Amino acid sequence: MGKIIAVANQKGGVGKTTSAINLAASLAALDYRTLLVDADPQANATSGVGFDPKDIENSVYECMVDGIPPKDIILQTNILPHLDLMPSHIDLVGAEVEMINLPNREEKMKAALRPLAAEYDFIIIDCSPSLGLITVNALTAANSVIIPVQCEYFALEGLGKLLNTIKIIQSRLNTDLEIEGILLTMYDVRLRLSNQVVEEVQMHFQQLVFDTIIPRNVKLSESPSFGIPVILHDAESKGAVSYLNLAREIVEKNSVEANPEEEAADEV
Ligand code: ADP
Ligand code: MG
Repeated sequence: MGKIIAVANQKGGVGKTTSAINLAASLAALDYRTLLVDADPQANATSGVGFDPKDIENSVYECMVDGIPPKDIILQTNILPHLDLMPSHIDLVGAEVEMINLPNREEKMKAALRPLAAEYDFIIIDCSPSLGLITVNALTAANSVIIPVQCEYFALEGLGKLLNTIKIIQSRLNTDLEIEGILLTMYDVRLRLSNQVVEEVQMHFQQLVFDTIIPRNVKLSESPSFGIPVILHDAESKGAVSYLNLAREIVEKNSVEANPEEEAADEV
């Protein structure tokens, strides 16, 4: 069974979308069957893998609210053979309001994604910068959560609230939800502040922090404008190498094996 991992932090601009896209692409590049789920109405993950959100007819929204089967929504990316996308568009904003009166409103995404875990090795969900109903849906659907933390001022701000939300979800909706790891992002080796944040977060959260630290790297910020993950923009860049390392760290931690039969079948 594949693993469903949400990338969440209600703070904006901490590297959620960058991490979701590039972790998903790295896993796919390592031959793991990977689905990237865009659960943010801003649809940056959708455009980041080459689709124009304006052209999207059916999104995660239709899947959760109208009950359209996930298979009718999932798109194959043209960029990596093992990378698929469940796209978003701006209507997802309305989904929060429409879902309020639905029964099991917190479990709509779980109902859509859990059956897909048989077909993918990893399902990576890019959450919006909020702790609203769609993010609660993502955390209820997920087996684990990655929390990106930017190596900047106020790095830990809001983290208590997020951890508290995770606890509430663990007690009421998803008892098995684990913290996959805290991911330090936009690290700048030259800045004392960056180093202080790393030390502080590692001291506080210890083994919860990924060994891999994502550096600030211009290739990472450029690649979305080409609609490709960094690994296809500049595979040698520090950004590409660090997300590949993160993918390997997660694979190792979960002892997931690549699927050679699938590989062979694909090539026939
Ligand atoms: P979020 O999804 O949490 O709002 P994003 O992933 O969109 O955050 O990142 C915010 C901005 O920072 C984007 O412009 C992105 O390109 C840039 N960015 C993210 N991570 C890095 C990095 N490691 N190096 C350089 N720029 C980055
Ligand atoms: Mg984002």
